Amino acid sequence: MKKNIKVIERYNVQWKHRIFIPAIIEGLTITAKHLLGNVNDINRMDVLEYPEEQPKDISGRYRGLHRLTHREDGGVACVACFMCASACPSECIFIEATQREDGVDEKMPQRFAIDTLECVFCGYCVEACPCDAIRMDTGIFSLIGNKREDFLLEKEQLLSHRGAFANENSIAKSGVASK
Ligand code: SF4
Ligand code: SF4
Repeated sequence: MKKNIKVIERYNVQWKHRIFIPAIIEGLTITAKHLLGNVNDINRMDVLEYPEEQPKDISGRYRGLHRLTHREDGGVACVACFMCASACPSECIFIEATQREDGVDEKMPQRFAIDTLECVFCGYCVEACPCDAIRMDTGIFSLIGNKREDFLLEKEQLLSHRGAFANENSIAKSGVASK
């Protein structure tokens, strides 16, 4: 069978790149420099006594555990449109929709759960949501449990999470918000 393979020439590859030895020596020199520097002055090492000491410099762009946001009237911002579940590559979002009973002509989730053991924290669900109803800005990066069920975050827990970097009030009244 004839294979249709297109061979692309590498540019600028010299013999010293092909034998890798200079690159290996360069890498080891950097490692040795750091090792000797740290042994010489142990205080210069940036060490965190985790978990007693928690990091305080988490970036606002860090994708931590999820949360469901609220409307300004305190209701659930989610309209159970299933966009996040459709976008999720791990298929770990479980939604059961129901009608709202507060006079708003929209659906809401009866059940909304995320299996964090399946989640790959890609953030696609946040990107897909048209209502800014799901975010990953809690800053929570560790979840501890004794059994699998402890890692299945249900609606109530997701609603109880607070944003570590953004204000809840930034959610629009109608549920359709700008990000
Ligand atoms: S972060 Fe990615 S894997 Fe996790 S629930 Fe959202 S879409 Fe699914
Ligand atoms: S979190 Fe957003 S995308 Fe997911 S069901 Fe609710 S409104 Fe739709």
